[in-house]
Amino acid sequence: MIGFVLGLVVGGAAAWIVVRPRGAGAATATGGAAGAHLLPDPALRWLMRAHGALGVWIAERDPDDGGPVAERVVDVERLEVAQIAAINRRVEHARDQAQSGAERVDGGTLVYRGANDVGVALLLPDGADPAALAAVEADLQHLFEGVRRRPQIVALAQASGQGGALESLESVALRLAYQLERATGADVVVGAEEPGGTRIVGVSAGADQRLRGTYAAPESDLARVAGGHVAQTSAVADPLGGVVADRRRRATRALVLPLEAGRRIVGAVAIWPREGVELVGPQLAEVLEAVANAAPRMSEAQEADARQANALTDPLTSLPNRRGLEIATRRFDVQDAALIACDVDNFKVLNDTLGHAAGDAALAHFARLLREQVRGTDTAARTGGEEFAVWLPNTSLDVARQVAERIRIKLGTTSWDWQGRRWPLSASFGVASCPETSRHRDNLPAQADAALYVAKSTGRNRVEAAARLQS
Ligand code: GH3
Ligand code: MG
Ligand code: MG
Repeated sequence: MIGFVLGLVVGGAAAWIVVRPRGAGAATATGGAAGAHLLPDPALRWLMRAHGALGVWIAERDPDDGGPVAERVVDVERLEVAQIAAINRRVEHARDQAQSGAERVDGGTLVYRGANDVGVALLLPDGADPAALAAVEADLQHLFEGVRRRPQIVALAQASGQGGALESLESVALRLAYQLERATGADVVVGAEEPGGTRIVGVSAGADQRLRGTYAAPESDLARVAGGHVAQTSAVADPLGGVVADRRRRATRALVLPLEAGRRIVGAVAIWPREGVELVGPQLAEVLEAVANAAPRMSEAQEADARQANALTDPLTSLPNRRGLEIATRRFDVQDAALIACDVDNFKVLNDTLGHAAGDAALAHFARLLREQVRGTDTAARTGGEEFAVWLPNTSLDVARQVAERIRIKLGTTSWDWQGRRWPLSASFGVASCPETSRHRDNLPAQADAALYVAKSTGRNRVEAAARLQS
């Protein structure tokens, strides 16, 4: 099976050449690891196929050092090296002279567009329908715009993925689904293998969007392939196991392929070819290549998600930890916010009397209650042992006090027991807010802690607020 796959991929790729002769330094500037997937090389193939072209060219200048950056897909069986080289030069000239048009060259008709340090071109074979020129020009215009925006897209991806420019699982899966759809016209669904099952993380445009975020039934073909129980299938009508009553009725069988990253299977992809279309030859090769390319990226994204989540989450309560809270407080581009600091009363007594396991259970109980009492835009966090905090963006001091009071009462009126023994729980709260108690958000933790200390020292099971600023 593996030999068969490899043979196809290699055989398919031999028909084209993709060249990216980027200068050593320039390679990372626009097309390094972070940006490689953003480059439209699959698009070049689609364009080539859509117009029956002999090649598609991109010639850029590196924004940093001005050096040439080129990318092309050409049909090496129908073009000579000298012809390709001549067209390279022609496209660079169009780029540098900001020329656009169509002209006869050795090998066919070259349609090109150049401006702003970007040149793109497509070579139509001799005898191509002149009426097709308008469509080619429109597509070239799109390609041109995409290439021009590319540095910004790469920069954005690098900025958002701090230190590594990682793609999200969903973005990799979505791109794979779209790429396969564009290449084959098929409906595509991508599932990721997760502890909870096979989650649908990517759905192509033509497929039922409601599938996203749902889990494939455990006995479905998608789940069985993603779980490594079967190698690949050419499956039944419904390889997802009817999780969502898929809107589309399909006559064709779906091809279900595993997403393999090294030895690990990270998920599976279901592909429903259009009726009457069989996935064979170069089309199948392109599918397999896209799948092989996406799988390791999905694996990396999954691992990064897990690392990130672990670093920001408290394992006992699943609430964000102190770092998670810090990130939440920075996430909102707002000045007005409130912070509630909270500490369970006499927790040491509970621990000493009922044992550490009981203490842990009490903390988990409090965390659940806390989560239920805050809005979706608020963040409840475990900041230390039996210390918690709630961050409330765009919330006044009075409202934050009411929220704290509500949590306090809820805790006191919800019974909690350990192995049949009832134990009363209470907590003390300190509240601070911007702009009422401080002009600067950075002061809120210290102010809320000071107010909490007052609540503790004046009897516990109380809410105290920091003093309002004098206006
Ligand atoms: P106060 O009302 O003044 O807050 O008294 P307290 O007993 O709650 O405060 P203190 O800070 O003296 O004790 C907190 C205790 O919480 C001590 C520590 O052993 C316990 N603790 C901290 N983290 C955990 C945890 O993760 N699990 C359990 N079971 N106990 C913890
Ligand atoms: Mg404490
Ligand atoms: Mg305490």
